[in-house]
Amino acid sequence: MPRIGMQAVKGAITLALPLIALAVIAELALPAALARLATLYLIYVTAVVGMQIYSGTSGIISFGHAGFMALGAYASALLTIQPAVVSTSLPDLPVWLTGLVGGQPLLVGMAGALGVVGLVALVFGLPLSRLGGSAASIATLGFLVIVHVTLVASADITRGSQTFFGVPRGVSALTALPVALIAVALARIYRSTRGGLALRAAREDEIAARASGVNVVRQRFVAWVLGALVSGSAGVLMAHFLGAFSPKDFHFNLTFLLMSMLILGGISTVSGAVGGTTLIVVMVDLLRRLEGRAEVFGLKLPEVFGLTDIGVGLVILAVMYRLRDGLFGLREVDERLFPEAAVAPALDAQTGAQGGVVRGAATEDAALTIEAVGRRFAGLVALEDVSFAVRPGLVTGLIGPNGAGKSTLINAISGVVPPSSGRVWLNGSDTAQVPVHAVPALGLGRTFQNIRLFRNLTVLENVTVAADVIARPGQDSRAAAMAALAVVGLQDLAAQTAASLPYGAQRRLEIARALALRPSFLLLDEPAAGMNPAETDALIAVLRRIRADHGIGLLVVEHDLKLIMRLCDHIVVLNKGQKIAEGTPEDIRANPAVIEAYIGKRRAAA
Ligand code: ADP
Ligand code: MG
Repeated sequence: MPRIGMQAVKGAITLALPLIALAVIAELALPAALARLATLYLIYVTAVVGMQIYSGTSGIISFGHAGFMALGAYASALLTIQPAVVSTSLPDLPVWLTGLVGGQPLLVGMAGALGVVGLVALVFGLPLSRLGGSAASIATLGFLVIVHVTLVASADITRGSQTFFGVPRGVSALTALPVALIAVALARIYRSTRGGLALRAAREDEIAARASGVNVVRQRFVAWVLGALVSGSAGVLMAHFLGAFSPKDFHFNLTFLLMSMLILGGISTVSGAVGGTTLIVVMVDLLRRLEGRAEVFGLKLPEVFGLTDIGVGLVILAVMYRLRDGLFGLREVDERLFPEAAVAPALDAQTGAQGGVVRGAATEDAALTIEAVGRRFAGLVALEDVSFAVRPGLVTGLIGPNGAGKSTLINAISGVVPPSSGRVWLNGSDTAQVPVHAVPALGLGRTFQNIRLFRNLTVLENVTVAADVIARPGQDSRAAAMAALAVVGLQDLAAQTAASLPYGAQRRLEIARALALRPSFLLLDEPAAGMNPAETDALIAVLRRIRADHGIGLLVVEHDLKLIMRLCDHIVVLNKGQKIAEGTPEDIRANPAVIEAYIGKRRAAA
């Protein structure tokens, strides 16, 4: 059973129950004004959850989702507008639209609106997904402005900046409820899917995610389209809730309101999106009342202009000051309420281990050949004409003084920094000819000199991201991930966040993540750096086990010559970007060029 199974379903139910209760109470027991507030709340929940799907998962703050609400609202309004008012409301309607506009039922309005929103999201998403970080944020802001200006400019269809009226009303808490429930369930389940987890990993460390096989661009695209559809459906609800609106109702004010809801609750979780919306809606309502008739304990206060906005602003500042990740932090409510469920696959470690972590026999024909590889950085030659082969089932050491080009070579092999000349052949493919995220599937895992973990994900999630890349569809890759953790001795820490691990364990976790790719070759960049002797001994044992049990070819960059001599079958020496020697540990120990370039310097220093 795929892992979206129980945990995500429990999460969706946990979040859905209060919403259902609220809608029922609003319909049956609340006075009209509060019932309207409850309806508005459910619409906001839908909109904010749509933002969370994209922003929370990718880490890219979006200004664009109010734009999707606007598109949804206008598309549905046009389809459903009362035919009697069309001629007064839209006298200049283009002929080609007259057959489409007006008189459709709400469901058709919703379907049509989602079609429009989906199409726009697809078109805009293609270039947007190539961007990350603040560049992407600015692009979403551009999107909001484009939508706004287009709506204002298309006066024949939208009445421009004037109020669009005649939209059938009829959205109550009970009609908004199913949409909100679908939104919340979709968001919570998406978070646990392979794509959702992969994008959360990329949010933590994009380079490590790509090197672990994650197609970041594709995952951003999926989140963008999904979030757009959810926010767009909130726009449809809003249109039929208000009955009359104009483009400014879906512009900066709404954007900042939705954003403050999401950020206050915590962008990382669906629980945060729902919780933050709840708090802001309640707070705004209370402050508005206070703003209206400012009488506290019989004391008549002067009317305070802007009290609501200032109050919301202050609360957000206070929360952010104390809780950087928002009120709900980084874990979903269900993950806090039912923590065992999150670690349940620990029980599968045994089965996973029997299934084997690694390809096995296939490694005999595996081949990794570095062919005349060179790399320049501006004027600096970091690598020049380096050739050698990494042999399957053996440990090859890559040594050389600081700045010799060892890390650059690892980056060139794994495609992270493609070579400027020469080729790297991995199991028959040239790694520079495929995208970085496709290299792992060719049979390559790697670690980084400066540890690159998905720090806020759990130990198990870190490894699962990689295991997912090679898993068959529908297969639960957490068992394979547990097996990889067992190889490095971290299976008992599966539920901890990666950042909470001690240093040596973090290095081993990176190795487990690379192992979960079932590579035929594993590149380790200074795996023992910063380790104490006990941790180093444990590491050597792990590496020997990997070589013996799994037949993987290892390429180990290391400073510690003792470790290299103990561990390696074969050694390659780099100096100033060039290969100066290659051979068995005995050959290397006796090689005068090596002694001069490397060992001799140390002696001299001592
Ligand atoms: P090593 O891992 O052997 O210590 P590196 O491969 O990190 O050496 O670096 C080799 C040389 O290339 C160094 O002079 C380093 O400053 C340079 N270098 C490495 N990466 C970059 C980069 N991204 N831009 C510019 N110079 C770089
Ligand atoms: Mg290095």
